[in-house]
Order: sequence, then C-alpha cells, then structure tokens
Amino acid sequence: MKNIGFIGLGIMGGPMAANLARAGHSVVGYDLGPDRVERLTDAGGRGAADLAEAVAGADVVITMLPDSPDVEGVALGPDGIMRQARPGSLYIDMSTVRPETGRRLAQAGAVTGVHVLDAPVSGGEPGAVEGRLSIMVGGAEEDFATAMPLFEVLGATIVHVGPAGAGQTVKAANQLVVGGVYALVAEALVLLEASGVDGKTGLDVLAGGLAGSRILDLKRESMVNREFAPGFRVDLHHKDMGIALAAAREAGVALPMTGLVAQVMAAARAQGYGSLDHSALLKVIENLSGK
Ligand code: NAD
Repeated sequence: MKNIGFIGLGIMGGPMAANLARAGHSVVGYDLGPDRVERLTDAGGRGAADLAEAVAGADVVITMLPDSPDVEGVALGPDGIMRQARPGSLYIDMSTVRPETGRRLAQAGAVTGVHVLDAPVSGGEPGAVEGRLSIMVGGAEEDFATAMPLFEVLGATIVHVGPAGAGQTVKAANQLVVGGVYALVAEALVLLEASGVDGKTGLDVLAGGLAGSRILDLKRESMVNREFAPGFRVDLHHKDMGIALAAAREAGVALPMTGLVAQVMAAARAQGYGSLDHSALLKVIENLSGK
C-alpha cells in the first residue's frame, strides 16, 4: 500500500485516482475544482484542501493536468511539489506535456532528491475508467520498477521507452498519428457523401482493408452520425500538435504533414469547436468544402 497524492482529477485523473484507491492505496486528491474530488471519495479516497495537503506524507505524487505551464507551475513553483515532496519519494507526471518539461522536472528532482518519471498515457476516458491505458514511461529504470505496481492498476500496455522526456516524445508521436488519421477519415467521409456514396457503407469497407484503424473501428459510427461529445477535446489535441511541432524543432526534423494537421486543428478551434471531440475535425473539412 502506498500513500499517493494525486493532482488533477479531470476526465482522466478522476477515474485513475479512483482506481488506485480501489486497489487499496491511500489516495489524497487535489483539484482546482473541488467538486471533481467526488469520484475519488466514492472509491474510498480523500480530498485535500490544497496542494500541500495532497503532497504531505506521500510516497508517490502523480499529476494529471492539462498543459506544460500547469505542470511546471504545480511542480516547480515556490510552493510546488519539488519543494514539498519528501526526498526519496517518487513524482510521476502523467499529463501530456512537452518533452522539455519532462526533462526539466527530472533536473529539478535531481536537485531536491525526488525521483521523477514522465508517464503520459493513451487510451482516453474509457481506458482510464477500465484501467486499460497505454503508458509510455521516461526516466530511470529503477524508478520505473518502483512505479510498476501502480502502473499495473492504471494500464494494460506499460513500456519504459527511455530516459527523462522520452515518454513525452513517444506521446507526441502518438498524437500526430491520431490527429492525422482523424483528418483523413474526415476527408474520406466528406468525399464519399459528396459523391453520393453512403458514408457508413464506405467507411465500413475501409475499416476492413489496409486503411483500417482503431479510429475507424471506434469512431466511424459517431462521425457518420455527427456526434461530437468529448472524449478528447479539440483544445487538448491542439495543444498536443503544438507539442509535436516543438519537439520536431528541437530534434531538428521536418514534419510537413504534422504541420498541416496542426493547422486543421487550429481551424477547428477558431471555428468554435474547441470543446468538442477531436473527431469534429470533420466539421472543418465540411466547412472548407461548403458542405
Ligand atoms: P481535464 O481538463 O478534464 O482535467 C484536468 C484537471 O486538472 C481539471 O479538473 C482541472 O481543474 C485540474 N487542474 C488544472 N490546473 C490545476 C492546478 N493548478 N491544480 C490542481 N488542479 C488543476 O483534462 P483531461 O482530459 O483529464 O486531460 C489531462 C491530461 O491528460 C492532458 O494533458 C491531456 O492531454 C491528457 N490526456 C487526455 C486524454 C483524454 O482522452 N481526455 C487521453 C490521454 C491523455
């Protein structure tokens, strides 16, 4: 049994923290929105009044926050996790942030004696609820081993991919592929329907051939029906496309398709679809075609 401080109890963090509590760990959760703690308390965890209360006495602190500035603020700020966590404890950031942020956290941990892993996830809300996330982990091998029993509660595919920041690099690669597939499925559907072919029938055939993908399997029906309740919000995917492009710049590589998909994602936001599911890229492609 571990004492866990869990910061960020949103769509993903809420069910993840609840699963850890249900597995028998002592979980103290904190979120800026106090109502968000409910799922955790129902599962046997406890809410904290502030960050300090969640971190005090924790063997492991986990963050699941929206973006790099949120994580850096909570972890590296004057009253942040790095100042308050016990030396020798473990801090795992499971948010999707810049690889550079992952490395910055590890550098701060090396100064304060806190062990640090970057461990972003894939699998969405259903994966979080069912404890079946894919977890890509950057950091030291021995810290990965320490965290493994917790990861096994949260995920089904758990891979140590390299040193600090490497987990975030893999997640950036994941997000550029996911964004690209959504954009092209949207284009395929617009072409099918504009040509007088039933969209569902056409995408059903695609799903069974070389164009098949998890996205076609899981989302083609909702896309055909224009159901865009999130899921994973356009706003967050827009953030992730920015992370992928920043990582590309840092690595000195050119990713032209990623740049294009990032612009379509930016258009989705600009057209007011930021809080819809990322499959709402379909609306942008329809708008471009006057449909
Ligand atoms: P969310 O907006 O639902 O949850 C984030 C939570 O963090 C909110 O409840 C918010 O109140 C809280 N928060 C923000 N700043 C805080 C602070 N300073 N202190 C305490 N709490 C704070 O977002 P989410 O969908 O749960 O995503 C979280 C992270 O996981 C993001 O980085 C996202 O990219 C990533 N992710 C999301 C999904 C998904 O399908 N939703 C899938 C994989 C990865």
